[in-house]
Amino acid sequence: MAQRSRLVNPEGFDGRAWLSVEEWETYRRRAAVRYPQKLRNEVIARDGEVCSICGSDSEKPIQLAHRIPFKMGLIDFGLTPEWLDGVDNLRLAHQGACNDLVECSFGEVPQLLVSFGLNLQESPVVRSGIATLEQVDGGDVVEFKFNVT
Ligand SMILES: [Zn+2]
Repeated sequence: MAQRSRLVNPEGFDGRAWLSVEEWETYRRRAAVRYPQKLRNEVIARDGEVCSICGSDSEKPIQLAHRIPFKMGLIDFGLTPEWLDGVDNLRLAHQGACNDLVECSFGEVPQLLVSFGLNLQESPVVRSGIATLEQVDGGDVVEFKFNVT
């Protein structure tokens, strides 16, 4: 049997949304093991078994899709694999074009996280000083400003 790469935290993340700075540093060097997608039934119970983009249940297969792309959430924002593969971040969508539209852009991520009640100051990316939070145009919109050295 092939050796599986070890999870940084094999016990899971106790429902946490944010990685610790130590976990995040580790994941930046080594890709995470994906969690199996067991949550399809929970998402269907919440949203119905229809595509969240076109609203249709027709023909093409409907699959789980991430609103915040997994790798972006992990590496750029320091979210846990558990949160990223959790129901808050999952929608049903047809494969292909609908699936692509589920994903939010990099710039949309901070507002989406705020809408889930997450405190952006707790991100390991911010706590480690790699990025700072900045208001955009003095408004309510916040973005991660990466301190490139
Ligand atoms: Zn669709």
